[in-house]
Amino acid sequence: MRFSKLRLNGFKSFVDPTDLLIADGLTGVVGPNGCGKSNLLEALRWVMGETRAKAMRGGGMEDVIFAGTDTRPARNFAEVSLLLDNSERLAPSGFNEADTLDITRRITRDVGSAYKANAKDVRARDVQMLFADASTGAHSPALVRQGQIAELINAKPKARRRILEEAAGISGLYQRRHEAELK
Ligand code: ATP
Ligand code: MG
Repeated sequence: MRFSKLRLNGFKSFVDPTDLLIADGLTGVVGPNGCGKSNLLEALRWVMGETRAKAMRGGGMEDVIFAGTDTRPARNFAEVSLLLDNSERLAPSGFNEADTLDITRRITRDVGSAYKANAKDVRARDVQMLFADASTGAHSPALVRQGQIAELINAKPKARRRILEEAAGISGLYQRRHEAELK
């Protein structure tokens, strides 16, 4: 599966619907300070099921909703869709009925987050597992935040082990084991 498009609507500074096409090979995002480059990366992490508001540089998760400016009112919801090319039908069962897999997350003020896969309601956990198993999840080492290299160097052994497990693509198994132990 390959990311083909990221669609933002009311997410942080992207108040108007915005499509980011993700072509084959390398995609670069350039622009002046504050134009929203990091917000794009955060949208990608968020739609894959990020639960930590801090990782979104916010105090609460609703801080990802467009907060308004002098000239534009705040929005009531934020929505991000990640479109995946599934023409080789590699998506796991339950997600594998079409050539394109559209994962959408929407957060509404005072309501919280809801997820859809190809317009059908799914649970946050289903989406998190989908991407954790594909080694691209919200916590994937493929997504490197500013300052994260220093964090890795200074990490305690247990935290460093989690990072290595993500890289090895076994964190989905780790989460299932943890859930099994709780039962
Ligand atoms: P730099 O080059 O400095 O790293 P950047 O291109 O990564 O900048 P971002 O950090 O992605 O920029 O964007 C910051 C902008 O997003 C700020 O102008 C901030 O006001 C705006 N922003 C963040 N959250 C919201 C929100 N909820 N509503 C409206 N605007 C927001
Ligand atoms: Mg930035």
